[in-house]
Amino acid sequence: MSTLTDTSYTLSSTCSCTYCETCGVVWEDLAECQDCGNPTRAEDYCDGACYEYKLEWVENDLKEYCKANACEYIRLDGSRMGWQALSGYKLIKATRKDLLDSLTFSGDWSLNFIRSGESFTITRYSHDEPMGASFTITPDTGEDIEE
Ligand SMILES: [Zn+2]
Ligand SMILES: [Zn+2]
Repeated sequence: MSTLTDTSYTLSSTCSCTYCETCGVVWEDLAECQDCGNPTRAEDYCDGACYEYKLEWVENDLKEYCKANACEYIRLDGSRMGWQALSGYKLIKATRKDLLDSLTFSGDWSLNFIRSGESFTITRYSHDEPMGASFTITPDTGEDIEE
């Protein structure tokens, strides 16, 4: 049985790059430059690199989780979803695409991934979910998934 390393990070629909005029350095989500301490401003240009590598983290997390649990499918339980604060669940194939397709929509959102020990949870913040919608991932057999 492999031991999973705990991970925690935020993936959001908007770029969080900031720029220090003084040093000419781009930071990720820092209000103050780490080198000179001056306040940074939002970066106008981003090649998406601040986002791409996090998609790989999601992919890796999912892979490791499925390997440890010997599953190819996962069950996603959600609560406090949308402005009606609905609950529900979805059975999906354990791929990054299926997971993110289930969690995201057009518009602004931010996903806080936390994998700790056996638990793998995601909190989503959006316009209709200022308090955050909670999602829990558990292994699934995939038997009830209709193709
Ligand atoms: Zn960026
Ligand atoms: Zn600086």
